[in-house]
Amino acid sequence: MWYDLKLMHADLTDVLERYWGYSEFRPLQLEAMRAILDRRDSLLVLPTGGGKSLCFQAPALVRPGLGLVVSPLISLMKDQVDTLVGNGVPAACYNSSLSADEKASVLAGLREGRFRLLYVSPERLVGEGGDGFLARLRPANVAFMAIDEAHCISQWGHDFRPEYRQLGMLRSVFPDISLHAYTATATERVRRDIVAQLGLRAPVELVGSFDRPNLLYRVKPRASLKRQLVELLERHRGEAGIIYCTSRREVEDLAEWLHGAGVRARPYHAGLADGVRHRHQDEFLDERIDVIVATVAFGMGIDRSDVRFVAHASAPQSLEHYQQESGRAGRDGLEAECILYYSTADFLKWRTMFERDGEWTEARRQLLRDMERYASSVGCRHAHLVGYFGDPMARDGCGACDVCLGELERVNEPVVLARKILSCVARVGQRFGAAHVAGILCGSRSEPILSRGHEALSTFGLLAEAPIAEVRGYIDQLIGEGLLLQSGDQYAVLGLSNDGVALLKDPAARPGLMLARQHRPPKGEKTRPRSRVESESWQGVDRELFEHLRTVRLEVARARGVPPYVVFHDTTLRELARMKPQSMAELRGVYGVGARQADDLGGLFLEAIRAHAAT
Ligand code: ADP
Ligand code: ZN
Repeated sequence: MWYDLKLMHADLTDVLERYWGYSEFRPLQLEAMRAILDRRDSLLVLPTGGGKSLCFQAPALVRPGLGLVVSPLISLMKDQVDTLVGNGVPAACYNSSLSADEKASVLAGLREGRFRLLYVSPERLVGEGGDGFLARLRPANVAFMAIDEAHCISQWGHDFRPEYRQLGMLRSVFPDISLHAYTATATERVRRDIVAQLGLRAPVELVGSFDRPNLLYRVKPRASLKRQLVELLERHRGEAGIIYCTSRREVEDLAEWLHGAGVRARPYHAGLADGVRHRHQDEFLDERIDVIVATVAFGMGIDRSDVRFVAHASAPQSLEHYQQESGRAGRDGLEAECILYYSTADFLKWRTMFERDGEWTEARRQLLRDMERYASSVGCRHAHLVGYFGDPMARDGCGACDVCLGELERVNEPVVLARKILSCVARVGQRFGAAHVAGILCGSRSEPILSRGHEALSTFGLLAEAPIAEVRGYIDQLIGEGLLLQSGDQYAVLGLSNDGVALLKDPAARPGLMLARQHRPPKGEKTRPRSRVESESWQGVDRELFEHLRTVRLEVARARGVPPYVVFHDTTLRELARMKPQSMAELRGVYGVGARQADDLGGLFLEAIRAHAAT
């Protein structure tokens, strides 16, 4: 078949503008769309929020035929289809949540060629419950197939789903159409696995940058978690957030405590009845609640694009997990905060758990160690993450992490400090844990110290001017630096590594050692440095108007039974509150407002802007 590529490119730009109100492609979007138009198999790896969905949605409006989208979660499927329909794109989904009538109507639409995009679950498409669905698709003129969250096919990924394995048969059922895979999991092993399992033919492979410049990363030693969370929630009043915990009990506990403190929060974990869990998820999506407290093992369904903070109450088991979970923040591209509260105990807990389950492998050890390194490091967080995920780009001074914002203070004589701590560990015969060692250094006359006569040690009170939490923080960093070792049992005894012994003997043994502590602002000064992204994205925005438009959006969403971000993204609301359009023509020019949405909602929002100006 003949077609003109140049023309199609122009068509893509046009479609982007007309249906989504966007004027520019994000990195790799155009290349990914071209692969579909060129009928070349492809694999696109972009971080969460990178704009993968558009890469198969826009070409479906340019290329003749039907785009079939395989997606693992019914709730996400529904949101995407609602958004598409709201933008005027003929799309539908076919899954087990539909009534018999709805199913019949979708099938009729398929026969009539009414849709450009059809979303299906893998089990519906190739599973046993598929009841001949594939056969029904044959006459529907399927042009290409998009497999979203393609890492689910791989056991090396973080979310293996057995039903994805059967997608391997698609290649033989549809030998002539192109297959396109999308994922946010960047590791090479997962990528190879996707290509092999799906039988992709000489695919175009596109791997984007994994830096998420709109995310502000912070790491804090966990001290009093609840107090730390209060501080965090004060920064994000009324905004959406996720708090990840490791145990169900902790989830229940925190959710209840937050609720008692007046925060609209709900728990979310695998131990809840399906109905309850779904209700909590819907409440979150519909903005009836602000905060979801979830177990790390079970957070996948809770996607909302305007999540403004993701907090980890303890360290996850790998940086892959951390990237995935923290990546749920700021999917709309606006500033968001990812904060990790950790303690070295977290790593021991993981290890103990894996050992108990007979899953303690070398790979696990490595992954955990890399996570620990991130937590205890005092270099730029963005550079660290980007480096870890194999991205060549590494910049310092990101302006969006605790280190670059100067929230951590580098210690003046790190080697002197390190040697004080190491020698204290040596003095107690490498038989005590971090709390005890920190107590001695701080000069604490507690019972365990006095009863052992440790107040008589030469290292007693050596760091008396530092708070105990700070000294614990240094110990964590020395573990992260490989100078101290921590035994794996429940009493977590500190010992010296060979490098630690070397540094005790020779102060020059570890050039370039850095240690840091949290910056303590002088009393009365309660400023929080703002990240670069944050100041930029609010520039010129009338915040009051923004809040007002949020309520208007909420009313529309309630009336239509869809989540608010399906009506308009926060990005668009901020643009409206910045530009304050006065006419339909002006409104159409606002970023993120498609033609269909302008017709549909323009009057309402113009009126809201006018009314606000009059007050
Ligand atoms: P992913 O699937 O990669 O996690 P999404 O497809 O959900 O990302 O896109 C994230 C957000 O970015 C969405 O709100 C989407 O509308 C927006 N977006 C995508 N492409 C563009 C673009 N070219 N310009 C502006 N916004 C975009
Ligand atoms: Zn930084």
